[in-house]
Amino acid sequence: EAKRLGRGRIVFYSEVLADIQRRRLALSIALANAHKDGSLKLFFQPIVAAASTEVVALEALLRWTCAEIGPVSPDEFIPLAEESDHIINIGKWVLQQACSAAKTWQDTNDDHIAPKVAVNTSIRQLIQASFADEVQVILKNTGLAADHLVIEVTESVFDEQNMQQALISLLALHEMGVEIHLDDFGTGYSSLSRLHEFPMDAIKIDKSFVMSADEKSLAVVEGALLIAKKFGLKVIAEGVETAQQREKLLALGVDELQGYFFGKPTKLATLSVTETSVPKLTRNA
Ligand code: C2E
Ligand code: MG
Ligand code: MG
Ligand code: MG
Repeated sequence: EAKRLGRGRIVFYSEVLADIQRRRLALSIALANAHKDGSLKLFFQPIVAAASTEVVALEALLRWTCAEIGPVSPDEFIPLAEESDHIINIGKWVLQQACSAAKTWQDTNDDHIAPKVAVNTSIRQLIQASFADEVQVILKNTGLAADHLVIEVTESVFDEQNMQQALISLLALHEMGVEIHLDDFGTGYSSLSRLHEFPMDAIKIDKSFVMSADEKSLAVVEGALLIAKKFGLKVIAEGVETAQQREKLLALGVDELQGYFFGKPTKLATLSVTETSVPKLTRNA
């Protein structure tokens, strides 16, 4: 009896594993053409100044509908695209679309308001020796000013095997006037001791620390602010969903905020960047 049950479980687990493998394989194959078959879309989410709620940047976030499987979350398909290096072509597509959308947006809203565009960049892209040159070509072709582009990188740039080429790419981009932001701060395993060697402009605190109210999360936010002050960096917090979270982060001294409280990621056409429905606050009120 027990043996039969045990064997049944083994069959069950291996079927689940086979399903997972089949799905991964189907997604990986579809990702090879995603940048040219129209299945990728870019959404944009506002990043606002903490006190004034003025929109200072739009983060480009990928959305993908796989023809065979349907909508797939970036948390699932980005790692697959990185493993297969399809992220190189996909990343180029994202940069091209994001810069071109930002330029069009600026031209059609000829106010004083000109938000930057923030683009997530994989370590696989950054370690390509041609990466900075390709960004320069995209900026030239789209007409977007270099100081209106933000490249978001993760702590993977500090990994020993990536560091040298990632640093070369980032220094070249920074030299061009592109801003570099360290995304998902607090989630990486690598050492931050090399932070001072990198041309960073801002630290972006991961949403897990913003959304949780416990003491350890607060300590990560305070740690980020301390590091940022020492290195002369801005601090941005993502995942802000409530007025209370916003007030707390503002009081702590966070510069810029992003989250559903201010606006969800949407198509650029439906995004109102001239105003947010959220009231202004004064710092240290
Ligand atoms: P990320 O760069 O840290 O982006 C922030 C994520 O938090 C986004 O998830 C966004 O939709 C979500 N978010 C923003 N505000 C809130 C909030 O108030 N509450 C909650 N619960 N979530 C919020 P998304 O769009 O699913 O993207 C997930 C991750 O996928 C991104 O994390 C980024 O690492 C990666 N990603 C997305 N687009 C690209 C891309 O074009 N290239 C690369 N390399 N990675 C990308
Ligand atoms: Mg990001
Ligand atoms: Mg993040
Ligand atoms: Mg994240």
